Amino acid sequence: MAKQPCDGCGQSVNIGGGIANIWTLENKQTEGMTLELADGTEHFLCYDCMDRLPDDRDVTAEDVAALE
Ligand SMILES: [Zn+2]
Repeated sequence: MAKQPCDGCGQSVNIGGGIANIWTLENKQTEGMTLELADGTEHFLCYDCMDRLPDDRDVTAEDVAALE
């Protein structure tokens, strides 16, 4: 089990073994994932922050910065 800080809220988030786990939502040990945004940047976010991102348009790094 590894931990990584969320780029949105800054909390330390448990991450699972690999990218194969990302859609296995019943795996509670994985609490976040890396997203590639519409502007080409990559950010690691916990699921709580992902829920707070706008879903009616493309998400950019500015939206991630606004999560704090
Ligand atoms: Zn977060």
